[in-house]
Amino acid sequence: MFTKTSDGSFLDSNGKVLYFSTERFIKDICEGDCCSICGISRSETDFNDEHVLPKWILRKYDLYKQFITLPNESKFRYDQYVLPCCKQCNSLMGEKIEQPVRNLITQGFEAVIQHIEKEGHWLFFVWLSLIFLKTHLKGKNLRYHRDRRQEDYTLFDTYNWQELHHIHCVARSFYTECAIDSKVMGSFLAIPAKIGNNYQDFDYLDLHDSKTLLLRVSDVCFITVFNDSQNSLVAFKNFLERLSGEMSPLQLREVVAHLAFINLHLKERPEFFTMVNLYKQQQVMSAKCPIFVDLDGYESIDFGEILYFCCKEFLSACNDKDIEQIKEQVKQGKLTFLFDRYGNFNTNSLVPKN
Ligand SMILES: [Zn+2]
Repeated sequence: MFTKTSDGSFLDSNGKVLYFSTERFIKDICEGDCCSICGISRSETDFNDEHVLPKWILRKYDLYKQFITLPNESKFRYDQYVLPCCKQCNSLMGEKIEQPVRNLITQGFEAVIQHIEKEGHWLFFVWLSLIFLKTHLKGKNLRYHRDRRQEDYTLFDTYNWQELHHIHCVARSFYTECAIDSKVMGSFLAIPAKIGNNYQDFDYLDLHDSKTLLLRVSDVCFITVFNDSQNSLVAFKNFLERLSGEMSPLQLREVVAHLAFINLHLKERPEFFTMVNLYKQQQVMSAKCPIFVDLDGYESIDFGEILYFCCKEFLSACNDKDIEQIKEQVKQGKLTFLFDRYGNFNTNSLVPKN
C-alpha cells in the first residue's frame, strides 16, 4: 500500500518515493545532494557522475572542451558539467530514455518523426525535461559571479525551485511509471534543421524564466516549453502554418524566442497536480487548463529583447555588412529571419559562420 509522509510525499511499500512533495524536492534534491531521480542519499548507495548533456552527444559533436552558456551568462565546459546520480537510476535512464532517443536521432529526422507519429512526443519530452532539470539543478553548485572578486552567491539563489518541481515530476516519470494526462504535455516541436559546412550541427539554448529549451542535433531540432500545456503553440499557430522546409540556426532561435515570449505572456496558466489513490495504488499527473488561450497586452520591444538574447551569439558570427543595423532591428523586434518581405518562408536567411 502507498503511504503519505508528513511532508506530503508518497511512498510505495518498498519506500520508493513515487511523488516528491515540493518541500521534499527542494530539501533533498535542490538544496541537498540526493539522487535527482530516486532521492536516495549518497551514504546509502553508489553514485556516479551524470553529464548534463548525454555523453554520446558530447562525443558526436566534440563538445567536451566547448562551453555551455549559463543563465548568468558565464561559460562552463561541457565535460565539467556533471550532476551526481545513483548508479541504478543512471542505468535505468539509459535503458528507458537515452538509448531509444539516441537510436532515433542517429537515424535522422524521418525516424524521429515516424516515432512521434506512432508513439507521440513523450519519449522526447521526458528526455528534454531531464536535460532542462539537470542543467538547472547544476546551477546550485555554480557561483553566480564566476569572478571571485565579486560578491559570492550561487545561481541557486536566483531560481524559483517550486517551478522546477513540475518538470522534476515529468522527468522522473520513467522511474515512477505514473500515468500522465495529455494536458501535461507542453508545446513541442521537432523541426527539420538545415545542415551546413560553415556552422556546427549542434545547438543548445535554455531559457529559465520561460521554461523553454532548444536542442539541435544534426538534422533535427527540438523546441519545447515545459509548463504551458501546449498553449504557446496554440498562440503560435498562425506562424507555424507558414513555416515550411528546413530551418537555419537563426530561424530556429527565432522560433524558440516566439514560444518563450508567448509563454511569458499567457494571461492564464495551467495548474499542474498529481492525484494519488492510496488504496488502488495509482497516481496520475494532470493539469487544470484555461479554457481560452489569451495573451496580456505587450509592447513589441519585449519580444525584441528575447529575440536578441536568443540570436546575439549567432549574429555576432555573421559577416553581413549591415550586421550592426540588423542587430538594432532585432533588438526592437522589427526583424524576422523566418519570412521574406512578402510573408513567405525565407529559405535563405542569414548564416552564421563556425
Ligand atoms: Zn537514484
